[in-house]
Amino acid sequence: MSDHHQHPSLQLPSPSSATSGHINVFWDDGMLDHHTGDGVFDSGIDPGFLDVLEKHPENADRIRNMVSILKRGPISPYISWHSPTPATISDLLSFHTQEYIDSLVKADKDGGKTICSGTFLNIGSWNAALLAAGTTLSAMKYILDGRGKICYALVRPPGHHAQPTQADGYCFLNNAGLAVQYALDSGCKRVAVIDIDVHYGNGTAEGFYRSDKVLTVSLHMNHGSWGPSHPQSGGIDEFGEGEGFGYNLNVPLPNGTGDKGYKYAMTEVVAPAVTKFDPDMMVFVVGQDSSAFDPNGRQCLTMEGYRDIGKIIHNLADNHCNGRILIVQEGGYHITYSAYCLHATLEGVLNLPYPLLSDPIAYYPEEDSFAEKAIETIKHHQAQDVPFLREVNH
Ligand SMILES: [Zn+2]
Repeated sequence: MSDHHQHPSLQLPSPSSATSGHINVFWDDGMLDHHTGDGVFDSGIDPGFLDVLEKHPENADRIRNMVSILKRGPISPYISWHSPTPATISDLLSFHTQEYIDSLVKADKDGGKTICSGTFLNIGSWNAALLAAGTTLSAMKYILDGRGKICYALVRPPGHHAQPTQADGYCFLNNAGLAVQYALDSGCKRVAVIDIDVHYGNGTAEGFYRSDKVLTVSLHMNHGSWGPSHPQSGGIDEFGEGEGFGYNLNVPLPNGTGDKGYKYAMTEVVAPAVTKFDPDMMVFVVGQDSSAFDPNGRQCLTMEGYRDIGKIIHNLADNHCNGRILIVQEGGYHITYSAYCLHATLEGVLNLPYPLLSDPIAYYPEEDSFAEKAIETIKHHQAQDVPFLREVNH
């Protein structure tokens, strides 16, 4: 075959693992051993009158497809794979209380327990949770050691709802929170966390609620509190407390916000705040449950939207963090589309000049004026009430 028959992507340079043109993925298939069961959606309940029960949305298949699309999809030349080390109990105490961790160890020893609604610790779950936490810590260490600029912790069970003292929303250990604390303990001065999972990253917010060293930003569906395991509202008034006042920015978005609305929120609200905060480490918390086809969300992002968000993150990290980004996997429950949207997000983070993979199913029309109005309101509220944003968002 002559040269001019080669696909253009084959002519792009294949960058080494230490540059911002390469993603180091941390993964261990032991995380597939967390079994969440069948039932009516995520309830674990068989009502007795349905012939077909479905897998719990947070099942191993969703992650299997993420692994395979990164291994065999067009992004694969940009990726190298790394094996993590599981977290130890003492690793967990930088974010979680001893009492809470003891309760999880006991639940595991007792053969399993329903920890809270939809959140089942079964045989194998605890080992998977320790692996997920260790995978995220291993990825952060890799960046801090200067071995790679962009690392992706491909993990389950997810973590961003897990608070210092309790589990919530399929999450036991706060993987991202542990990595953020590790970065601070290793000398990072300011860490920005940007969470685009469709649900409020309440656990991460709670962990750093009184700190001005961590700017937690969460874009989410306006779902409010969902009971004792999730008392936080995710509303625009949850700014943090004490020294941390102003360093938790919630961006609750209307259902159906879509690609244009998310891009608007990123450029109008998130980017100015991150620019002013000037972090030296970026933690990008991704959940594809903000997609147009997710059974657990209504935000209507498509691959194009995820790609745009990834590019904005790339630029912010380039301008402030010497290109360093830890990406942490959270939700995303459509078995096919979550994998495609992950692929698009990583294309964006790599700042590739053109899309590598086309969208197989996006077709929703967008109505962005409603979302824009909501985002303008959030922007003005933050500019008025957060001291460090006063000269930014006018
Ligand atoms: Zn979620």
